[in-house]
Order: sequence, then structure tokens, then C-alpha cells
Amino acid sequence: MERQTDKKRQYGNWIITGAAIVFAALAVVVCLLLRPKAGAYDRFVIRYGDGKSIEIPAWETRTIVIRDGEIVEEATGADAENIIRIENGEAWMEHANCPHGECMRQGRLSAETVRTRPLGTWIVCAPHKVYIEFTGGAQ
Ligand SMILES: [Zn+2]
Repeated sequence: MERQTDKKRQYGNWIITGAAIVFAALAVVVCLLLRPKAGAYDRFVIRYGDGKSIEIPAWETRTIVIRDGEIVEEATGADAENIIRIENGEAWMEHANCPHGECMRQGRLSAETVRTRPLGTWIVCAPHKVYIEFTGGAQ
């Protein structure tokens, strides 16, 4: 009788060990599947003017001034102007003289914020038709 109980216990241990191994393997597979794809969100595309756009790698540090649908060297505060800043993988509207400054309130666009921002991968300045999109991969 005692021997049989031992055998049962041993059998139970094997089941527990087996289940633990299967669980660990599943956890590894899930982690691999959920890992962000290489190249996801690696650049900002700024659209402006009538169908013009530039792409800036997310790791660059840049300040872009757009005035009346053109990229210009310096901000003057005159006319329709947007100042876009890209730094440490983040992009944001540093300054804009659009009527309500909505674009400045849209916050920072980065790999961390895309899931929680109301506008997702976009910063939009509708009055000036200036759009920043965070994109990546082979698109
Ligand atoms: Zn704006």
C-alpha cells in the first residue's frame, strides 16, 4: 500500500514538473510574440504645404520651422508658423501661432505615448495643415 502511495506521489511530481515546463515554454513564446517588431516607429513624417513631406529618423535631434507651407531657416512669429521639435525619440509642437494652439496641447509623440494619446501616432495642426506622423517598418 505504501509503495503505491509513493508511486502516486512520484507521478504527481512528474505532472507538476511537466506542467511547469509547458507553462515556461508558453511564457517564452508569448514574450517573443509580444516583443515590438524591429523597425517599428523609427521615423517621423512631417506633412505640410500642399502635399509636401519630409521624413526624420526618430533618433535625430532637430528643430523644424514651417511658415506658410514652407520649411524655413528661422522662426519669425509672422504669418502661419509652426516650430516642431524632435529629440530623444519624441516629437512635439514646440510653438505654433494657429488660432487655438490645439497642436501644442497634443503633447509628445513617442513609442511610449502612441497607445495612450487620443490622436495615436499623429500630431495635427489643422489650421496650418501641418501634420506629424510617427511611423516605421517597411511602409
Ligand atoms: Zn496648431
